[in-house]
Amino acid sequence: MAIRKLLVANRGEIAVRIIRSAREMGINTIQVYSDADADMPAVSMADEALNIGRPQAARSYLNREAILEAARATGADAVHPGYGFLAEDADFADAVEGAGLRFVGPSGKTIRQMGDKARARTLALRAGLPTVPGSTGPIDSVEAGLAIAGEIVYPVMIKAVGGGGGRGIRTVANPKEFSRQAPQARAEARAAFGDDALYIEKVIDSACHIEVQILADGECAIHLFERECSLQRRRQKVWEEAPSVNMPQENRDELCAAAVKLAKAVNYRGAGTVEFLYDRQTGQYYFIEMNTRIQVEHPVTEMVTGIDLVREMLSIAAGRPLEISQQDVATRGHSIEVRLNAEDPARNFLPCPGIVESLNIPNGPGVRFDGAIYPGYIIPPFYDSLLGKLVVWNIDRETALARLARALDEFKLVGVSTTSSLFRRLVDDEDIRAGRFDTGWLEKWLREAYPEAGAL
Ligand code: ADP
Ligand code: ADP
Ligand code: MG
Repeated sequence: MAIRKLLVANRGEIAVRIIRSAREMGINTIQVYSDADADMPAVSMADEALNIGRPQAARSYLNREAILEAARATGADAVHPGYGFLAEDADFADAVEGAGLRFVGPSGKTIRQMGDKARARTLALRAGLPTVPGSTGPIDSVEAGLAIAGEIVYPVMIKAVGGGGGRGIRTVANPKEFSRQAPQARAEARAAFGDDALYIEKVIDSACHIEVQILADGECAIHLFERECSLQRRRQKVWEEAPSVNMPQENRDELCAAAVKLAKAVNYRGAGTVEFLYDRQTGQYYFIEMNTRIQVEHPVTEMVTGIDLVREMLSIAAGRPLEISQQDVATRGHSIEVRLNAEDPARNFLPCPGIVESLNIPNGPGVRFDGAIYPGYIIPPFYDSLLGKLVVWNIDRETALARLARALDEFKLVGVSTTSSLFRRLVDDEDIRAGRFDTGWLEKWLREAYPEAGAL
């Protein structure tokens, strides 16, 4: 069952990240790429590279047949989907396995169960995890939704069962808004996710986003502690930390145990993340969803635990039992990741594709840069604007913040606007330093920090 040849079905920084672990394990890599990505770093790093189509994701990175054909043509025996694109596509996972290859992730069945966010809620509830008050399963009609929303008290969220990446979520304040927005939400969900099913959750105010990293081999499941991802814009994470900030040990233990319980209940296999909303005031926590893939922010967990998550994913996909036991996992120090996007914070985060004219990548003690850019690289306009992730580690949060400031000062990119200037300001903020923030904090801060952006 050993994996000898791995096809990387993704692009950008995560493709580079996967190739790095594969190489350390003696696994050959095949990188697929679109017409827009011939110059991306993963293409030159991989042992082989194969063009799979047009720049538009639907015609390349989302084209299941083209990727399977590439795997067949090159003799790959496994496919790593990274995150986004086909990573949570249950049919793709089934097709890969059906072709006799290993899909580096859970089974299609598990992805189907957890990818449907309403079903995942039901499974979590059944496993004994607290979930956000809301509908049991999808809502059949506006009337049924109104009845549930009335019971749980407004404001409520209308969520698409197939949503992800911060999309497919609307907050409504009263029945009138509910009646108006529910049909729009349904149409939008159908267009964006190919599934128009919706469910309802109460809005949990002033909550933190805490998630637990899981590794499981189908029989055993362990956790690699938690990450704090409360700094968000439009429900997308922009700054992540491990461990979480100001969280009592007993609450941390409880969350980690709950995540393992869920992983065991569904006989999970692979790396996964169980996401929670956590109320710092009361200690109450609620399951929100499970992501059945490697996450963008996985490096902060790697920095504090010393465990290579991509390596473990590949090992599990090769059919080996977990090589780490729960007692082997401990965290040391503190890690912070910031997502460097080609976007202009002063212009409402307008994407800025273009040419990287010159570049200085930060380095030195405790600094890691997971990126996919170089001087002269032309950032294509077709994909999301993540250029790289700057990750720091230090003995505690205060020194990690100082290191982040130093590393951001070293980061110099001429040619396009990036979000680094925003992070440099955040590092010095008193609330950030004191750990006084929740999932609503950053948007409020942005309105004050960039007042002119709101008018755009
Ligand atoms: P993470 O928790 O790993 O940060 P994100 O929610 O930011 O996860 O998503 C990671 C990537 O996957 C992003 O590129 C995001 O746009 C994409 N993504 C996640 N779920 C979906 C989905 N259902 N549809 C489209 N893109 C998605
Ligand atoms: P996605 O699948 O897009 O990642 P999630 O359900 O994980 O969506 O939610 C993304 C973010 O939206 C959360 O991290 C949180 O900030 C916010 N959110 C989601 N559900 C709720 C809720 N019930 N109450 C308050 N905020 C929520
Ligand atoms: Mg989420």
